Amino acid sequence: MSIFTKIITGEVPSYKVAENDNFIAFLDINPNAKGHALVVPKVEENKIFGLSRDAYHQLLDFSYTVAKSLEKAISCKRVGMSIIGLEVPHVHVHLIPLNEMADIQFTKKVTCTHEEFVALAARIAAEFDRE
Ligand code: 5GP
Repeated sequence: MSIFTKIITGEVPSYKVAENDNFIAFLDINPNAKGHALVVPKVEENKIFGLSRDAYHQLLDFSYTVAKSLEKAISCKRVGMSIIGLEVPHVHVHLIPLNEMADIQFTKKVTCTHEEFVALAARIAAEFDRE
């Protein structure tokens, strides 16, 4: 069982920003930038192109709404998207508020306190609920 499945079942806590029947989005615990979120299908699949075409499109569609929420909640030049999966073998879309190229390069990291994570997640979730 992946760490993300444990988050989905509630076994492991997360800072959730959005959810529907098939997908969940929560803040990355080691963010590139404040507001860095992960969008995850609830059904555990290793690779993005292991998804059915339909599930792939649904994942991108859900990510679109989460990205819109991020754009409204977080001050940034734009929201970037990246799909990697080398660390966690459970499909996820990285949505990252960008101000500079380094924000998407997974080398620069920022630290957030628990209180900051809670506040960021609440702001993004409020925008998601308005979409
Ligand atoms: P990737 O698999 O795309 O290379 O990266 C996995 C991402 O998941 C990393 O950015 C890492 O910080 C994040 N991550 C790993 N474990 C956890 C966790 O337990 N909770 C959360 N919220 N994020 C995690």
